[in-house]
Amino acid sequence: MTTKSFGGIRAEPKFTQSPFWVSEISSSDLQGSYLVTGNNRSYGDVALVSGAKVISTLSLNRMIDWNPQTGVLVCEPGVLLSDIQTTFVRQGWMLPVTPGTSLVTVGGAVANDVHGKDHHFSGTFGEHVLSLELLRSNGETLTCSKTSNAELFRATIGGLGLTGFITKIAIQLRSVKGPYFDAEVIPYGSLAEFFELSEETETQNWQASVSWFDCSTSKAGRGSFTRGNPSDTPFKSEKAGSGLSIPITPPFSLVNRLSLNVFNTAYYQLQKMAAGKSEVHYRDFYYPLDGIANWNRIYGPKGFYQYQSVVPMTHAEEATSEMLNVIRRSGQGSFLAVLKTFADRAPAGLLSFARHGVTLALDFPNRGASTEKLFQSLDQIVAEAGGTLNPSKDARMSREMFQKGFPGIAEFSKYRDPNCVSDFSKRVID
Ligand SMILES: Cc1cc2nc3c(=O)[nH]c(=O)nc-3n(C[C@H](O)[C@H](O)[C@H](O)COP(=O)(O)OP(=O)(O)OC[C@H]3O[C@@H](n4cnc5c(N)ncnc54)[C@H](O)[C@@H]3O)c2cc1C
Repeated sequence: MTTKSFGGIRAEPKFTQSPFWVSEISSSDLQGSYLVTGNNRSYGDVALVSGAKVISTLSLNRMIDWNPQTGVLVCEPGVLLSDIQTTFVRQGWMLPVTPGTSLVTVGGAVANDVHGKDHHFSGTFGEHVLSLELLRSNGETLTCSKTSNAELFRATIGGLGLTGFITKIAIQLRSVKGPYFDAEVIPYGSLAEFFELSEETETQNWQASVSWFDCSTSKAGRGSFTRGNPSDTPFKSEKAGSGLSIPITPPFSLVNRLSLNVFNTAYYQLQKMAAGKSEVHYRDFYYPLDGIANWNRIYGPKGFYQYQSVVPMTHAEEATSEMLNVIRRSGQGSFLAVLKTFADRAPAGLLSFARHGVTLALDFPNRGASTEKLFQSLDQIVAEAGGTLNPSKDARMSREMFQKGFPGIAEFSKYRDPNCVSDFSKRVID
C-alpha cells in the first residue's frame, strides 16, 4: 500500500503493523528492516520507507502516568500533542515546546527534536524529555535519560527514528496560569527591521516569537513579527475548532504566481490591521494552520516541498537576503514564508537541527525540474553560509549537504539500530 508524507512524497512499504499495545511487538517483529512512524506530519521522507516494514504508533496513544504537583507526564509514543494540550492546559500545565502543528505524536516530536516559537526560552522538545524507553531489534528494552544510557538518549533525541522503537516517554510540562497569550503583532518593511525586532525581542526576554514575511514577486522584504508571553487570564472555556477543511485534492495546484501575490498582499493587509497588542488563545498563537483541515491539498496531486534552512547568525542577514532575491527571480514565491531565530544553546540531540542562527521555512508547489533548480541555488547559499536543512522537512538534499550539516553523524552511527531504515536514511546516510 502506498503511504504519503505531508508534502505528498510517496513510498511503498512492505506492510504496516499498527499495534494496540507495545507488548504486541517482540524482537521477532523487529527482524528485517523496519521504521516506526507517528502521524506522518513530516514533509519529506524521514517517516517513509519503501520495501520494509512500518510500525505505526497511532493506536499507542495512552497517557500512562500524571503528576499534577510536578507536571511530569508519562505517555505512549502515539499520544498527539493536541491531546496533551487539551487535557492539561485547563489544569495549568502546557507543553514547553511545540511545533507549528499540534497534530504530531510525542514519538515524532522526540525523533525530530522539534522546535517551536520559544527556542530562546525553552530550546527544543528533547530538552524536556526526562526519560524514554527504547525497544531495540536485539530484544533489549533500555531506559534512557541524561544519567542512564546517556549516549543512546542523546542519539535518540533527534535520531530520526533510527535508534529503535521509542515505546514510552516521560516529559516535563510547564506551569501556566491559563491558555492565553499576551501577543503583539508588528508589521515591518525590510529584513533589517526583522533582525532589529528579533534582537529587541530576545533582549526583552519575550517567551515566543515568529515572523511571516512576503516573498511573492513584488514586495519582498515586508512582513509581520509576532511575539507573545503567557497571560495571567485563567482558563474560561475550551476553544471550538473552526470546522474549516479543504474537502478534496484539486487536479492541479491552486498555488501559482497570481494566487501567491493575492494571498501575500491580503495577508499583509490583515496583519497590518491586527497590528498592536491583544490576548489570543494558545491554539491561535501556536497552531494557526490547524484550523483548516487538509490545507496541504491546495497544492494538488503533485504536492509541495518545504525548504527549511538554518544559517549561522554571522551570515544570517546577507544569506537570507540573497535567498529571497533568488526566490523572487525564480517567480516561485511561497505562501507561508516563516523566519525565526534560534538561540545559542547546546543541542539536545546528536543530530538536532535547531542551532544558533536564523531559520527560514518556505513552501513551494512541486513543479519538478524548475523547483529542483531553485533549491540547488538555495542550497549553494545555505552551504556557503555554513548552514544546513531540516531533515523533517526534506525530501531531496544531497548526501554531502547532510553529512556536512550534521557532523554528529559519525558518532550517531554507533547507536543506530541496525534494522532501522527510512527512505531518508537510504538517501543521505546509509
Ligand atoms: C503544519 C506543520 C507545521 C510544522 N511546524 C514545525 C515546527 O514549527 N517545528 C518543527 O520542528 N517541526 C515542524 N513540523 C514538522 C513536524 O513537527 C515533525 O515532522 C514531527 O516529527 C512530525 O511528527 P509525527 O508524529 O507526524 O511523526 P512522523 O512524521 O510520522 O515521524 C517523524 C520521525 O519520527 C520517527 N518516529 C515517530 N515515532 C517514533 C517512535 N515511537 N519511535 C521511534 N521513532 C519514531 C519516524 O521514524 C520519523 O523519523 C511541522 C509540520 C507541519 C505539518
